[in-house]
Amino acid sequence: MKSAYMKQEKTVSDILGNSTSNIRSLQECDTDNCCDQPHEHDDLALAPMADAVYSLLKGVGEDPEREGLLKTPDRVARSLRFLTSGYRQDPEQLLKKAVFTESYDEMVLVKDIDIYSMCEHHMLPFFGKAHVAYIPDGKIVGLSKIPRVVEVFSRRLQVQERLTQQIRDAIQGVLCPRGVGVVIEATHMCMVMRGVEKQNSVTTTSAMSGEFLSNQSTRSEFLRLISSR
Ligand SMILES: [Zn+2]
Repeated sequence: MKSAYMKQEKTVSDILGNSTSNIRSLQECDTDNCCDQPHEHDDLALAPMADAVYSLLKGVGEDPEREGLLKTPDRVARSLRFLTSGYRQDPEQLLKKAVFTESYDEMVLVKDIDIYSMCEHHMLPFFGKAHVAYIPDGKIVGLSKIPRVVEVFSRRLQVQERLTQQIRDAIQGVLCPRGVGVVIEATHMCMVMRGVEKQNSVTTTSAMSGEFLSNQSTRSEFLRLISSR
């Protein structure tokens, strides 16, 4: 009878054998904001992650050697690397690439941005919508960069509160606008799947700066615009 250790060793070599050819299909580095490290590093990171998944499968009472699960450790490791690819991207660099001088000084709002993240307490998904607004002070940013910044911070282990603040701070830090407002509405699988709360509970968080804090009419306009469908 093979020991668990031997089984694990076999799994690692299987994974390395399978992964080298298609390692670049992870899509975690896009041309917009490629990470600096060589992609080959992923090989080294994936094997211990897959080992851990193998152990998890045993821990839940499964047989990791049965046909349907044979490639699961590798798949889960790759999937996790993709879902946490935000750690290897720099949101401020991403924004800085698309800053333009412009005299427009009214509110810019990008609403209903899809977010998919994972809570750091349970490593279960939370997902919903983000609404991001800012009031320029001489500089604007390419509109597509705002959902990208949301995505970079979302693809990390998060709490919704911190995610909301990080988005605000990145935009405030790079653009130095007159204010930033961020609202996120999300459903947490750790709440709905585990029966902690009612199934349709939505968590709302907000983070504001500048005129979104100091000017009541700005704040109200932002909240009115994001609640109108
Ligand atoms: Zn959770």
